[in-house]
Amino acid sequence: MRKEIVLGLGSGLLIFAGIHGFNVLPLLMLGLLFYLFYEQGGLKVMQKRFDKDVVQTRAIKTTFDEIGGQQSAKNELREALNFIVTDKRTQALGIRPLKGVLLAGPPGTGKTLLAKAAANYTEAAFLAVTGSEFIEMYAGIGAQRIRNLFQQARRLATESQKQTAVVFIDEIDVLGSKRGQHQGHLEYDQTLNQLLAEMDGIKQQTEPKILVIAATNRLDVLDPALLRPGRFDRVVQVDLPDQESRYQILKLHTSNKPLADNVNLKEIARATFGFSGAHLENLSNEAAILALRKNRSSITQEHLIESIDKVSLGEKLERRPQRDELWRIAIHEVGHALVSECLKPGSVAVLTIVSRGQALGYTRQIPDDDHYLHTETYLRQQIQILLAGFTAEEILLGSTSTGAQGDLEQAVSIAKRMVKAGMTPLGLAYISGTANTDLYKTTNKILDREKRVAEDILQTHQTKVVAIAKLLLAKERLEGKELRSVLAQPTPSSNPIAGTELAI
Ligand code: ATP
Repeated sequence: MRKEIVLGLGSGLLIFAGIHGFNVLPLLMLGLLFYLFYEQGGLKVMQKRFDKDVVQTRAIKTTFDEIGGQQSAKNELREALNFIVTDKRTQALGIRPLKGVLLAGPPGTGKTLLAKAAANYTEAAFLAVTGSEFIEMYAGIGAQRIRNLFQQARRLATESQKQTAVVFIDEIDVLGSKRGQHQGHLEYDQTLNQLLAEMDGIKQQTEPKILVIAATNRLDVLDPALLRPGRFDRVVQVDLPDQESRYQILKLHTSNKPLADNVNLKEIARATFGFSGAHLENLSNEAAILALRKNRSSITQEHLIESIDKVSLGEKLERRPQRDELWRIAIHEVGHALVSECLKPGSVAVLTIVSRGQALGYTRQIPDDDHYLHTETYLRQQIQILLAGFTAEEILLGSTSTGAQGDLEQAVSIAKRMVKAGMTPLGLAYISGTANTDLYKTTNKILDREKRVAEDILQTHQTKVVAIAKLLLAKERLEGKELRSVLAQPTPSSNPIAGTELAI
């Protein structure tokens, strides 16, 4: 109908202009272009493409039981959902049901899974979309897409005879960051304004009800208007899993796989501090792939341990350094491992000279337990272990190499953390208010001091370093247990380098 009115008015205007001697050709061309863009292609195609990107599911199957750990996130979310599920009691107490829940946390921690489980729990229709899908170069498109999304949600719920629809917006920070910050910010601002307007328009008394669940790993950049009560009035923190949660997630992801008798998932959970649920899922899968490659019918503990390295560092590389380089890498890694064992017995999980990802060789430590705070002693010891590779090369090979660059960068960053935490003679100093020369001198002093500690240990155990490096060169990979058994043997009293034809 609207189209007919526009066409009628347009033609009338053109005839009027033609009669009065105006050149109507440019106007005709413009009209044609607009018609082609709007009707045939352009906006319509863009909208269709967006509609396809919206994942619509009438009945979600994911349940909260399929999410390992995340107990407090699950509890908080379930409580928010109970306001919807136990509708009558909520209303009787005058509780205003939530319109939006924001899941905040690092990537791969299960935010999408939680949103799906929420849809299942509330028996809702589920629509999922990511923030970046709203952003186009053309002004007004994002706002239009937001309107459409909410219309689609209502339609899907009605068609599937559900009382609720869950709209899940992943990466909401793309469209919901503080207004006025983007270049060409009008489009971003209009999109966000439309989302706010739609959320304000949600009436929980009328059906179908809409619950918006959004996810972000950049809570700090969100526009405060999004977080004010009445919009996303519940923020649920979804953190990296702790040791027990990692164990639960590993159990879930290995439940459909044959595990050998020697598998100890608790040990794997202990060694994977910092891994997200997605990492752990990937680890379980990689272990199964490894078992297949090695022609085994079940996954062993060794497959799981090797998969930790695969997931954290990347695939083994074909690239094989020269033999003299391999010897240097072995000395370097044994330097790290030996100092680590001397400072914290039982701390080395594995050391290897097989290249993976960016690393030519590596030593992996077992975290004692999950730690969220670090003492000065811990930080100093970490620097000593980091500088031990460089120091071992210096002592045993008489020169150092670029292999120590990454270690040095990490050591400097720890030293800076110590300054920030007031652990240095600079006292409780604000790092950006500290003169560069003071900062430089203080971090240098820390590095020098900790390097001397590593030096003392390595000087005392030179013969052991060479013996273990030879073993590592032959075997390419040593488990922590093997390392400790060599360390426990008595030291032969000979020149450490003698008989090492590879020493350079
Ligand atoms: P992103 O922020 O990158 O979008 P996300 O937090 O939404 O990530 P999900 O997409 O929910 O993470 O998780 C990715 C995959 O990781 C899941 O499909 C699942 O296999 C696994 N996963 C993550 N967390 C858990 C968990 N707590 N329990 C079981 N599996 C998990």
